[in-house]
Amino acid sequence: MEIFKQIAPLKAFLNAQKRAGKSIGLVPTMGALHAGHLSLIKASAAQNDVTVCSIFVNPTQFNNPSDLQKYPRTLDKDTLLLEKVECDAVFCPDASEMYPERSIIKFDFGHLDKVMEGAFRPGHFSGVGLVVSKLFNIIQPTHAYFGQKDWQQFAVIRRLVEELNFDLELTSVPTSREDDGLAMSSRNLRLNPEQRQVATVFYESLVVARQALQQGKTVQEARAMVQTKFDERHVSLEYFELADSKNLNILENVKASDAPSGQPIMCIAGFVGEVRLIDNMFLQ
Ligand code: AMP
Repeated sequence: MEIFKQIAPLKAFLNAQKRAGKSIGLVPTMGALHAGHLSLIKASAAQNDVTVCSIFVNPTQFNNPSDLQKYPRTLDKDTLLLEKVECDAVFCPDASEMYPERSIIKFDFGHLDKVMEGAFRPGHFSGVGLVVSKLFNIIQPTHAYFGQKDWQQFAVIRRLVEELNFDLELTSVPTSREDDGLAMSSRNLRLNPEQRQVATVFYESLVVARQALQQGKTVQEARAMVQTKFDERHVSLEYFELADSKNLNILENVKASDAPSGQPIMCIAGFVGEVRLIDNMFLQ
């Protein structure tokens, strides 16, 4: 496995692969890798000749400086994990390599950016759009892999690829969960043992809400049930929404006619102590 900190040698390596007609799969990450990330690497390795994993804690997508500072960084452990799966190259640049000058370009994803994560993390998707565009231009992958766990991010990137004509195929990979249902996340490393236990409230709430919505309860009623569960565990709920999975329009009920362009998806976010977690689940 090759490790690159600089863009130029990475490009030289990839150009040689491309000249040999090889397909390139890209898995963008911020590191502190877990089995969820590795499932994306495996999906890429199954479909491509060469798999590149980028590891970059992207400052432009953090709206909270303390969240950026406390984001776990475990590069040595990450590269050991990647050695064990079929990853061919790691791109782990410093911020100065990706942003030699303070970036001035902003993305506006319209409605996709105004709800849920976009509403609670202003500027987040602009930073995501910027770094993902840079990675797509540097690596020019034939395929790119993202997790369902960050569904809104996937919807935003799908739009980015369509609107800017990036010549690649996107794949969304199902969320990997711990045995008790907690969605795997690098941020889970910041939970103390007690917080780790109560963090299952995200998954449990989604399961309860799915059942309630399937039985004809309104979103408002489902949200009240979720809020009660969060209150019982002293976890603060930021939002619980039902949305059209493609255009992210917020839905007030589960009638299929309200989600014409995609399946309805429940999305949830909240804080366990200082640690912000998100999760989601399709209704069907
Ligand atoms: P991150 O390092 O958190 O930016 O995540 C990098 C990629 O891994 C993103 O496409 C995430 O959606 C994906 N990912 C993160 N956690 C999981 C998970 N539990 N299951 C599947 N994919 C995930």
